[in-house]
Amino acid sequence: MSDQASVKVRYSPLAQQFAEPDEIFDAIRELVLSGDFTLGKPVDDFERAFEDLLGVKHAIGVGTGTDSLKLPLKALGVGHGDQVVTCAHTFIATVGAIHETGARPAFIDCDDTFCMNLDHLEDAITPKTKAIMPVHMTGAMVDMPRLMDIAGRHGLPVVEDACQSMLGEYDGKKAGTWGIAAGVSMHPLKLINVWGDAGVVMTNDGEMDRKLRLLRNHGLKTRDEVEIMGCNTRLDSLQAIVGSWMLAQAEDIAVRRIERARYYDQGLADIAQIRIPGRQPGVKHIYLLYIVFAEDRDELLSHCLEKGVEAKIHYPIPLYQQQGLKQFGYKPGDFPVTDRHAREMITFPVDQHLSQEEQDIVIETVREFYRTR
Ligand SMILES: *Cc1c(COP(=O)(O)O)cnc(C)c1O
Repeated sequence: MSDQASVKVRYSPLAQQFAEPDEIFDAIRELVLSGDFTLGKPVDDFERAFEDLLGVKHAIGVGTGTDSLKLPLKALGVGHGDQVVTCAHTFIATVGAIHETGARPAFIDCDDTFCMNLDHLEDAITPKTKAIMPVHMTGAMVDMPRLMDIAGRHGLPVVEDACQSMLGEYDGKKAGTWGIAAGVSMHPLKLINVWGDAGVVMTNDGEMDRKLRLLRNHGLKTRDEVEIMGCNTRLDSLQAIVGSWMLAQAEDIAVRRIERARYYDQGLADIAQIRIPGRQPGVKHIYLLYIVFAEDRDELLSHCLEKGVEAKIHYPIPLYQQQGLKQFGYKPGDFPVTDRHAREMITFPVDQHLSQEEQDIVIETVREFYRTR
């Protein structure tokens, strides 16, 4: 691939997203002059704006998306010897958050929504299970009414990983508002992004809110009093400024992603070797990732890259088969749907800045690949 064509359809929209940053720089200049660098006005302003947008009582800004999942687990008392049920098909951060509490991730397989297959959930619940962490993968959503019903019958708290599905909805109710708490990431590849790492926990529970605010700031109740053992994972004030600027655009970004996904769905529909995942009725899928299943996927990926289309795979190696996760004792074949997805999935750019001309290039590049085979 040494003579790879110049990029015709780029994957990341970040250069366009932040092409006119003057407003942000102005706010940062103000911050610098104020010296309000930790948990000050920019963080408060961001948290109130996030609460308004999501319709939740409390938003707590933290340092990373991973910490937005770890902290609610810790607030629930999850720790060594415990288990947290989650999906075998996820990004490593979900598992990392569980592992950092000292608990063990217990995986169940996904289905073609890319989310956990709830038919397997009850089998995974044991006396050691202390929480369930559904992952709203790709911008889709887990069947939350059914999941909440199962969790309720077992008396288990639910912490949603909404890192990929901010503003997604199931039956009109937003991702992250079903369980006791949920985490959202503002990593540069997420729906709203900042200039580095940041995350938000949301909850409607007052006691959870209080614990999360302690946990993110060394457990400090006041300047001089430590109430519990916490850590330092405050939302950075500078990132809060960027986050607030992004929040104002978030709804619009979601709408544009959805429009672009529809356009792909129509454009790719008649290609026999491409299978578009079934669209879930009642779900507002915000398409953080636009993924289809493809025959001869590896060859299609190479073809796209040669033609300057930056397609990607989310993710090529099933997490449970990764070297770093050997300790959890899973073996190849344990999660056949996750395995199949790793072989068949391909992701195309679907962001708000993608033009129709670029989408046409993607569709034509795929069409051309199968025509010549
Ligand atoms: C991005 C992401 C996270 C959090 O990752 P950070 O890089 O720490 O923000 C967690 N879960 C999923 C599914 C993600 O995609």
